[in-house]
Amino acid sequence: MEKIQLLEECKDAKNIFISGHVRPDGDCIGSCLAMYLYLRKALPEAVVKVSLEEPSEVFRCIKGFDEIDGTYAVDGEVDVFIALDCEKSRLGEAEEIFANARKRINIDHHVSNERGCGDVNYIVAGSSSTAELVYELFDRQYMDAEIAKAVYIGIVHDTGIFNYSNTSPKTLRAAAELIEYGFDFTEVIDETFYEKTYTQNQLLGRALLESIMFMGGKCIVSVIDKKTLDFYNASSKDLEGVINQLRITKGVECAIFMYETGNLEYKVSLRSCKYVDVRKVAAFFGGGGHVRAAGCTINGTFYDAINNISKQIELQMKEYKEKNKKME
Ligand code: AMP
Ligand code: MN
Ligand code: MN
Repeated sequence: MEKIQLLEECKDAKNIFISGHVRPDGDCIGSCLAMYLYLRKALPEAVVKVSLEEPSEVFRCIKGFDEIDGTYAVDGEVDVFIALDCEKSRLGEAEEIFANARKRINIDHHVSNERGCGDVNYIVAGSSSTAELVYELFDRQYMDAEIAKAVYIGIVHDTGIFNYSNTSPKTLRAAAELIEYGFDFTEVIDETFYEKTYTQNQLLGRALLESIMFMGGKCIVSVIDKKTLDFYNASSKDLEGVINQLRITKGVECAIFMYETGNLEYKVSLRSCKYVDVRKVAAFFGGGGHVRAAGCTINGTFYDAINNISKQIELQMKEYKEKNKKME
């Protein structure tokens, strides 16, 4: 998809509203704050607002974190709405504001959002992160260390620190440019990625201890129920990282992590290593994401959910086996 002229698209706007997906991750928060800092600098006349649902405190190190409005309040009409790292259905409370905005811009890297949901779209499914895309659109004359740091954090989180297969030479070139702006890139990785609270470690421990391998060790699943979350007074943010630890279990192709969000309702995270397209699996249950990382919400008992997910994974594994046989 062709690059968009971001400043040109926003130049007449008095009110600009930026938001991303519910349960925002590092890429979502990094891109939204980078966009916020950038537009405030490049378009000082405009009123720029950023709203997100309860961002994790670890991202407090990004400038502008305190200005994120969790109430989704709008003063008057929104001239430009910028939806980042998602399509409109995952905007949560901001979806209505998006619908009523004069102009909608959508920047995303999800395969499941192929065409984009805005009037103006910049969707590159192969890109590592929305942060990388946002950076491509920024006029370098307005860049500074704080904006660079926000972008860098976004990229770092969606690539598992330049580890996942979505990392490209372009991603690394962008990262090289970004660290030249001079922020502490070691500290941001420790603070936002590696550091875990005691609660997070305890929940990770439980999830690993109670995990189950199946399909001859090719899959691993773990679940955390509402009772456990309540016992630790924890929320979804405290479960970040569990799925990554499950995924790196030796021999595993596909990892599944579920936690109970309501009565008979589970948020499901899926990750794969080499060949299972987990986006396809998630899409079957109304979710989406990327080939190697996807998610969805499933209603029903844990056993029903895992049975149904396994069936979808098994279909792909069979297909893969047959394809390989033919090639032999
Ligand atoms: P998660 O397992 O929640 O970390 O999500 C993995 C990837 O899938 C991220 O890129 C999410 O943005 C995406 N994703 C998660 N849940 C959904 C959903 N219900 N619909 C579309 N994409 C999702
Ligand atoms: Mn995201
Ligand atoms: Mn992303």
